[in-house]
Amino acid sequence: MAAHMTPEEFRRYGHEMVDWIARYWENLENLPVTPDVRPGEVAARLPEQAPETGEDFTAVLADLDRVITPGMAHWQHPAFFGYFPANTSGPSVLGDLVSAGLGVQGMLWSTGPAATEVETVVLDWLADLLDLPKRFRSTSSGGGVIQDSASSAALVATLAALHRAGGGAWRTEGVRREYTVYTSTQAHSSIEKAARIAGIGDRNVRLVEVDEAYAMRPDALRAALDADRAEGRIPALVVATIGTTSTTAVDPLPEIGEICREYGVWLHIDAAYAGAAAVCPELRWSHAGLEYADSYCFDPHKWLLTGFDCDAFWVADRAELVQALTVLPEYLRNAATESGEVIDYRDWQVPLGRRFRALKLWFVLRWYGAEGLREHIRSGVATAQRFAEWVRADERFEIAAPHPFSLVCFRLRDSNASDDSGASDDSDAANDSDAANEELLRRVNATGQAFLTHTRVGGRYVLRLAVGAPSTQERHAAGAWKLIQAAADDLDAG
Ligand SMILES: *Cc1c(COP(=O)(O)O)cnc(C)c1O
Repeated sequence: MAAHMTPEEFRRYGHEMVDWIARYWENLENLPVTPDVRPGEVAARLPEQAPETGEDFTAVLADLDRVITPGMAHWQHPAFFGYFPANTSGPSVLGDLVSAGLGVQGMLWSTGPAATEVETVVLDWLADLLDLPKRFRSTSSGGGVIQDSASSAALVATLAALHRAGGGAWRTEGVRREYTVYTSTQAHSSIEKAARIAGIGDRNVRLVEVDEAYAMRPDALRAALDADRAEGRIPALVVATIGTTSTTAVDPLPEIGEICREYGVWLHIDAAYAGAAAVCPELRWSHAGLEYADSYCFDPHKWLLTGFDCDAFWVADRAELVQALTVLPEYLRNAATESGEVIDYRDWQVPLGRRFRALKLWFVLRWYGAEGLREHIRSGVATAQRFAEWVRADERFEIAAPHPFSLVCFRLRDSNASDDSGASDDSDAANDSDAANEELLRRVNATGQAFLTHTRVGGRYVLRLAVGAPSTQERHAAGAWKLIQAAADDLDAG
């Protein structure tokens, strides 16, 4: 018989593992933010084959320090400023631990009633905390569900939109006609990917032009809708973004919403990162116009202290979503489902099976309270705004986009050096300056003491500093700024 880990052994090693994680967090600041490893280096530290006989668990623990930690980018490091934050927290980890221990399969209400009902209640709580429209509540026509990611939320929204646009025919006949999807040039790549998976194809995705603040232009959206309609295509979905990935631009929802209503098109709002900001009343301006939305999502796993994977997705009309996705095979039939009194979340997502992810969110909301969540968001925003002030005060640098949340996009200005030669034209100067910014980023990240990423804004290379790790304080942003200034000094010196 296999030597299962006994409860007594689990208790002993579990305690050691929790100690290991606590030590990791305590020591995090002393580690390089990103690893100095070459491709294949981590794999080379592993044996070529799985063990024939079971190993002592202490050997596994030892390998965490030997193999894993040195081969990691430390996303919880206080000087991790790349991409968007990917928060975790003590209560979130403990919630995941309980979920793993229960090992429950929450596909139907009947396969884990508490898994379903806690999720429904917690998403109603969260809708209150963000002040989402009433119809998103389970007590109204809508409701919330946890998806693994904003990408899955976009796919599910696309499928529901197709269902509506085709008058239900999409379910039985597939995508037989030309359906179209609209989103801005700044939207996340997951929108195009969802359209591809849904069978709409890249050729029917319209990337709508943006204004000088990188927000979708409603007039351009209307023009694109008219052009498609004139040629017999069926507009199915508009995806607007609150907080684009590149620069955190906010699309004008009230105008876009009016247009969607007029054309009868499903409006999905992707607020993956910036949605968390709506726990603070002073940041809710970004959600104005949400009453037009048919669906909305944000990622507590980005900026709301909950570990990946946890995307909160709401629909205004749950019946539409369920009709689009439900398939009921005989082996899943049960009295509770037939009573119509319960939610079966399998009908709200792509996979059948689902983990008890609501536990970590429930733990987080109870540990921090609304007040604690607001403090976390406010501290990230305040630190980012301080950083932007430092950038503005150094004339070598410029701010590259509005920064209402906790992301600052900035760059070295185009240097005057090329003017001296008289020979270079503007595009040479732009190329030189892009190269200088790229080199600056490389040098800062090579120190291992901070980590930033980049984007392109208006075709130009731009550095991004995103604040949001729970352990980040102003002094860490100040440290990163010192490194950036020192690297700029070195570049100046040649
Ligand atoms: C990060 C991000 C996504 C994708 O997030 P996942 O949850 O990892 O799929 C989608 N949209 C926006 C605007 C994002 O910033």
